[in-house]
Amino acid sequence: MKYVSTRGSAPTLSFEEAMLTGLARDGGLYVPESVPTMTTEEIAALAGRSYEDVAFTVMKPFIGDSFSDNQLRARIRHAYAGFGHAARAPLVQLGPNHFLLELFHGPTLAFKDFAMQLIGQLFQAALERRGEKITIVGATSGDTGSAAIEAFRGLDNVDVFILFPDGRVSDVQRRQMTTPSEGNVHALALAGDFDDCQARLKDMFNHFEFRDAVGLAGVNSINWARVLAQVVYYFTSAVALGAPHREVSFTVPTGNFGDVFAGYIARQMGLPIRDLVIATNQNDILHRTLETGSYTKETVLPSVSPSMDIQVSSNFERVLFDAYGRDGAVVADQMADLAGDGFTISQGAIDFLRGQFKSGRASEEETLATIQSTWDATGEVICPHTAVGVKVANEHQSDVPMITLATAHPAKFPAAVKEASGRDAHLPPRMSDLFDREERVRKVPNDLTALETLIYNERRT
Ligand SMILES: *Cc1c(COP(=O)(O)O)cnc(C)c1O
Repeated sequence: MKYVSTRGSAPTLSFEEAMLTGLARDGGLYVPESVPTMTTEEIAALAGRSYEDVAFTVMKPFIGDSFSDNQLRARIRHAYAGFGHAARAPLVQLGPNHFLLELFHGPTLAFKDFAMQLIGQLFQAALERRGEKITIVGATSGDTGSAAIEAFRGLDNVDVFILFPDGRVSDVQRRQMTTPSEGNVHALALAGDFDDCQARLKDMFNHFEFRDAVGLAGVNSINWARVLAQVVYYFTSAVALGAPHREVSFTVPTGNFGDVFAGYIARQMGLPIRDLVIATNQNDILHRTLETGSYTKETVLPSVSPSMDIQVSSNFERVLFDAYGRDGAVVADQMADLAGDGFTISQGAIDFLRGQFKSGRASEEETLATIQSTWDATGEVICPHTAVGVKVANEHQSDVPMITLATAHPAKFPAAVKEASGRDAHLPPRMSDLFDREERVRKVPNDLTALETLIYNERRT
């Protein structure tokens, strides 16, 4: 299996190389040269199998020879062993034909654990074999950073530094980043906002001398291996509800388009998905793009679902590549226009996108009202990101089961839950001591040289 860049001019790579590289050298994102498919019989045979078994079967064709069967199975087992639910991604029924896919039973209580726990294991295996060490630096508004720290803590060949905006993440998110005690983990509270964190990270990647000196690597959602890990739960949930013998639909709370793109891959592999619905908060660039055919940036408005407060949706480039008949030169042109206000999508490409996706948005009031109405109707407490999904899913019900992705545990966003419903969201018992653990955090200035010096000196060589 080979991987090609969406901008058409970076070298073709193996799975392992694409995983370790992250962003392609032409600025594009790696995608498989072609998507492997499964027959109806092969999909039917997934019924009743463990999450780990399904993960192996679904991912193996994309991984090729990068890992042996035994090694891949062992790494998958290790990745999900720390989850707080035996099913890993259980389904809960919300109403007639409407189901929640609970993706928050991992160690940091958000869906990002599914991908991050696995790539932590795969990075370690690849680096051991190559005899290499790397330094992971990430910028986070909360969930990605905690998931990365949890996945890479204690690994021998990796140091991990996470930049988060000082004072602008929730207490649970901050403590998940600052309480791990392993020496290879470094939580850095930067004097600035999330955009400053991202800008300094980008500066480091563009400073080749530093990049090579520390072996800089990235784990944000442009990494193909993260998308691949997320394809798995589309299969486990659809098969549990009768696929491939009946269709299902999915609604996906989205900001960066990573999770919903994984659903698009599952459909290309042969999973019978009828509707794939994009649910956005008030930062609704993806919904507007599908409606108007024009991808136009606006300023980011802070919302009660902060993990979806995005205007430049990086994974959208992957589906655009398909929409333009896999012509990397056209994608490169459109992305160049994104440096300005945005771009207009051609008629052929927008027709393709509208054939693949439906969409909707939830305002702040609608999000809070949905937390309350879901509690009233079912006794389930949902997080604000999930509430965006439930609101939009309710507008797209049909005669096939609708599965809404529950992307975070409500206890990760207790303030919004309290505001909406007056209820306290409690942490699961296995992390009820989070507020008693000792914090370890470095305050850092919004200054490239200072950050690079700190990272260079603090990493274990
Ligand atoms: C990251 C995140 C999202 C958005 O996911 P994308 O696939 O990156 O768009 C939604 N909800 C929660 C809780 C998240 O952490």
